[in-house]
Amino acid sequence: MHCPFCRHQDSRVVDSRTSDDGASIRRRRQCPACNRRFSTIETASLTVVKRSGATEPFSREKIVNGVRKACQGRPVSDDDLALLAQRVEETIRGSGSAELDANEIGLAILGPLRELDEVAYLRFASVYQGFGSLEDFDAAITALRADREARDADADDRVEDAPEV
Ligand SMILES: [Zn+2]
Repeated sequence: MHCPFCRHQDSRVVDSRTSDDGASIRRRRQCPACNRRFSTIETASLTVVKRSGATEPFSREKIVNGVRKACQGRPVSDDDLALLAQRVEETIRGSGSAELDANEIGLAILGPLRELDEVAYLRFASVYQGFGSLEDFDAAITALRADREARDADADDRVEDAPEV
């Protein structure tokens, strides 16, 4: 590949290292013309198959744009959205497949979005899962409540287990 410093047309690999999770390879390269060194990161490209059958490269920006609408008026920052998109990408890469349908991406969004903001989660889920009635909302809210109560019960246990001072 081209040297980013002098645009020389070639460079040679002086070192290759696989990341701890095995999902990427980092290569140290050296330019034979100017002798400067630079790194490249190699990851598998992720392809998204849309409902129409068309394919496009996975993009975190698309995730952020898709979720932003559901977060309107909610206390969710751009940093929160960037982190969410990063978690979605990690989940998808962790699945090991190089080609995903839009449905799998929607599923990967639901978990982290629920942790981020329950109202935004309900909005997103209602569109993505095609809620058609009040009962659908009711079921989703009941599930959220049950999870919250389970979390609170865990917290109570921790307080009870704490040593007395
Ligand atoms: Zn160079």
